[in-house]
Amino acid sequence: MAYKYLLFDCDRTLLDFNKAMVNALKLMLTKYGFTVTDEMISFYNSLNESLWKQLEEGLITKEQLVHTRFPVMCSRYGVPYPGKEKMETDYFVSLAEGHDIMEGADEVLKNLYGRYGILVITNGFVEVQKKRMSESGLMPYVDYVFISEAVGVSKPDPKFMDAVIAHIGDEDKSHYLIIGDSMNADIALGNNSGVDTVLVGSAEIKGYDFQPTYRIETLKEIEKILEG
Ligand SMILES: [Mg+2]
Repeated sequence: MAYKYLLFDCDRTLLDFNKAMVNALKLMLTKYGFTVTDEMISFYNSLNESLWKQLEEGLITKEQLVHTRFPVMCSRYGVPYPGKEKMETDYFVSLAEGHDIMEGADEVLKNLYGRYGILVITNGFVEVQKKRMSESGLMPYVDYVFISEAVGVSKPDPKFMDAVIAHIGDEDKSHYLIIGDSMNADIALGNNSGVDTVLVGSAEIKGYDFQPTYRIETLKEIEKILEG
């Protein structure tokens, strides 16, 4: 195995996105008059996931994603929508504060940094992801962060991988390894661009016409794969 560049997904791979999202959501919804319940959070979760999936499939734009989520929440829970950009802005401001890491992420990157090029590939918004990554304490062990909003396309569009390769300047795809928790974004990106992948966590892999190259439960196990 001759991997030289490790491409880590950010959310639910390096950073604890769920924690950041739930905190931000509770704070913002409460401000606009919701009485927040667990059911509300899980409804938002599935709504958001289905919108991100549509975005990954190219069916909607990021703009549409952002401006659909909270009007839907308002109408479902009978809270008046305060108008464009109010809930959205408050949510992003709080979300950008969430930078807890997944267990062991700092140790793993610390051990690999210098031996591999450490890259982060994330679907998200520049302002939010930059702030979260820099406050996570992980940036000393990261060479470069690719954020979909800046790249111009989202994972799993193979153009995302093209942009990484162009930036690194090494066209040999066998030198790259994508590590992430999402079949639809990370593993599909590898499949679409001919790059090996590691699925981290317990995502369902049945029903896909592609599979990850490797599978691990927790990030720490990545070293076993790299040691071959
Ligand atoms: Mg992820």
